[in-house]
Amino acid sequence: MRLAEIAAVVGGRVEPEHAGVEVVAPAAIDSRVVEPGGLFVALAGEHTDGHAFVGAAADRGAAAVLAARPVGAPYVLVDDPAAALSLLAAEVRRRLRGCAVIGITGSQGKTSVKDLLAQVLAAQGATVATAGNFNNEIGVPLTLLRADASTRYLVVEMGARHVGNIAELCALARPDVGVVLNVGSAHVGEFGSREAIAQAKGELVEALSADGTAVLNASDEAVVAMRSRTAARVSTFGADEEADVAVRDVVLRRDGTVEADLRLAGRWSRLRLGLLGAHQATNAAAAAAAALAVGITPDVIVRELGAASPRSAWRMERAVTPDGVVVVNDAYNANPESTASALRTLAAMTPTDAASYAVLGEMLELGGAAARAHADVGSLAAELGLTHVVAVGAGAHGVHDAARAAGAASVAVADVTEAVGWLRTRIRPGDVVLVKASRASGLDRVAAALLEPR
Ligand code: ATP
Ligand code: MG
Repeated sequence: MRLAEIAAVVGGRVEPEHAGVEVVAPAAIDSRVVEPGGLFVALAGEHTDGHAFVGAAADRGAAAVLAARPVGAPYVLVDDPAAALSLLAAEVRRRLRGCAVIGITGSQGKTSVKDLLAQVLAAQGATVATAGNFNNEIGVPLTLLRADASTRYLVVEMGARHVGNIAELCALARPDVGVVLNVGSAHVGEFGSREAIAQAKGELVEALSADGTAVLNASDEAVVAMRSRTAARVSTFGADEEADVAVRDVVLRRDGTVEADLRLAGRWSRLRLGLLGAHQATNAAAAAAAALAVGITPDVIVRELGAASPRSAWRMERAVTPDGVVVVNDAYNANPESTASALRTLAAMTPTDAASYAVLGEMLELGGAAARAHADVGSLAAELGLTHVVAVGAGAHGVHDAARAAGAASVAVADVTEAVGWLRTRIRPGDVVLVKASRASGLDRVAAALLEPR
């Protein structure tokens, strides 16, 4: 689009000499990732003001800037660049033809399912999917702005922190297919209750029209209940024989990867994933149901799911230290459900003659449910017979107490440095170390330190 057109779409102003400047690449809010010919959106953040980085963006070849004040590069002047970004994204979405838009929400697994689905769809046609975890009111518009006339599939991860967030994202993305994965307790502190979380996630299926498809998790009651909130056709997935896309016989292999039977369009096939964790079986079923909804054949779906590789870092990311210790970095985020899944995977992955170490930090944003949730994690670690629990930081103390009370060998350490020191004197080749906590705990540094050559 030329700047004159962008200005018209967002209700902004452009200097006459710049009206003909053309934007030919996606938008960016970070000057370091601006593409030549792209649009730099100068946002006023909490800590920094994007307007200070216009020079850097121009050096990287930005064609123009969406700005709240005149800058030293061609610009479109608006009151609120973030709002203008949304308006522009909505227009780009309106112009898409012959492109299926799939929205994905849920308390956990959005990025995992997005990555799986994008890999399946890319085998069939030009696919644009959310980069990393860009799933909010800024990330969704940026995703939409990466689509163009050649895009056949657009996969949009949608996150929510409040009721109404998903509805707003849907107004921009106007999904044809809406996938709701689960209603868990992630961010329950902010939402206030699980009912509010269900209310928020369900906004995705409320936004679908009668010719769309709602893809719902048959194994999650709060998600199944969303049937009554949509005008769209419903397709279900999950570990439930009644589901349209069903999984059964989920087996964790010795290396932590998973296989399962998957029933697609009435036929069972054995699915072997290269991804760690039993939860990936249901994630694959969700991706399969969404792919079916946009016309991909079962054969292609099973083949491409089997070939899919991990795309997003720090989610059950497996690596081996120079000494032969297996490290699973799952330090991207943590909540009760994903921690339980990770602990089960750790147990399955550990050879009988080796030790398993669950290095756990605090699970944040759980509000009043926090004490109970941390205790449950400790008890589960004991129940699974993990060799050692290493609880890092004061926030994880509840895990340590419960694990010890249930008979597990558990140690509480103050911080990452202490955890690394403690582990280094004990781990042996063949042992498996899982590192899991909410991002803010910084436990990725434990994984990084263990993997460094010494
Ligand atoms: P965010 O809200 O941070 O965007 P997300 O919904 O995108 O999270 P992922 O990043 O895919 O979720 O996964 C987050 C964590 O949850 C990882 O530890 C992952 O291993 C785990 N996980 C993924 N899918 C599931 C699932 N279906 N059930 C339980 N845990 C899961
Ligand atoms: Mg995500």
